[in-house]
Order: sequence, then C-alpha cells, then structure tokens
Amino acid sequence: MKIYVDFDDCLCETAKEFTHIADRLFGKKVPYEKVRFFNLQQSFDLTDEEYERLMAEGHLPEVLLSYEETPGASKVINEWIDLGYEVSVITGRPYSAYEPSRKWLDEHGLERAQVYFLNKYGRDSFYKVNEYNLELEDYYKMKFDYAVEDSPAAFRFFEHMPELKVLVYDRPWNRECELGEGYERCVSWEQIGKIVG
Ligand SMILES: [Mg+2]
Repeated sequence: MKIYVDFDDCLCETAKEFTHIADRLFGKKVPYEKVRFFNLQQSFDLTDEEYERLMAEGHLPEVLLSYEETPGASKVINEWIDLGYEVSVITGRPYSAYEPSRKWLDEHGLERAQVYFLNKYGRDSFYKVNEYNLELEDYYKMKFDYAVEDSPAAFRFFEHMPELKVLVYDRPWNRECELGEGYERCVSWEQIGKIVG
C-alpha cells in the first residue's frame, strides 16, 4: 500500500497558527472557522505586501517547528508503516523549509516517513536539485493507493490516478468543494485510519 500524505493542515494545524500570526502582525482577527479560502491572502484580506510577510513569518524555522500536530496523525501513520505501507509526505512548502519540516516530522515520531517537496502551488520561484525536491515529471511516475489532502488546489495532482482514493481532511476552506468519485471527506485521523485499515 502506498499512501500520499499532505503536510500542512493534514499532519499539523498550520492555518490555526496563521490566524494567530495574522492577528499579531496586522491585527486581523479571523477565527479559524472563517478561513474559507485556501488562499490566505483572500481569507485574511491582506495586501500583497502583507501576504508576503505573513508567508515569510509562517515559514520561519521556529514557527514551523511550533505547529501543533493534528490529533492522531503520527499514531495512524506509524501503524501504517508498521504494516509495511509506504508513506510519502508530499508538501507544497517551499524547498527552503526542508530542514525544519524534516525536524518537525522527526520530533513527532515520524522519522520513518519520507518527505518530498513538490511545487504544488507555483510559489517557489527558484530551482534547486536536492533529493527531497520532487520534479513534476518524477511525481507523475509515482503511484498511490490513498491520498490524504486538504487543499482543493492540489486535487489536480491526482487526476492521473483514477483508482486513487482521496481522503479529504475536513477544513473550513474545502467544505464548499464538491467531491467527486473516489473522494471522501474525513473529520479525523481516527476515521482515516479506519478507512485505510
Ligand atoms: Mg495542506
């Protein structure tokens, strides 16, 4: 069994932390439940400059390391790895976030999970070859049985796998998204663990 797991808002509570950062930096008080757009610039109503600052702040190593784990994530993933399943964390974070991201996984008991950086959202403007950078061409050679993802903007990366089951981690910004065949909304890691078995 091969499983794709997204990082932010699947393994950890990134958007919740961003609501605190937006408040701290710009006095924007947007409760987590009101983060209705995956695009945080839109959700927090920020200028381009403010959005850049928000993203820079949210990707500082100490901030990345402080993200809370989504309850049950590492428990379920470790159960999968114990069963011999191959778990790949595939994140759209910028490549520069590799070290703190790897460290976060290690500190949360996920030393055995592979992590790959895929330019999912066109945010990375530079090109650098590392073993953890996944070029699109290489990504498309990978096959998965299940994917855990919260962002409708990333669903296009599943189109080449018609058999794939996509477990959509329930978040305020994906609630209005109509889920097609093969997609299932999940509210917890407990539920995800039961579905994958
Ligand atoms: Mg995500």
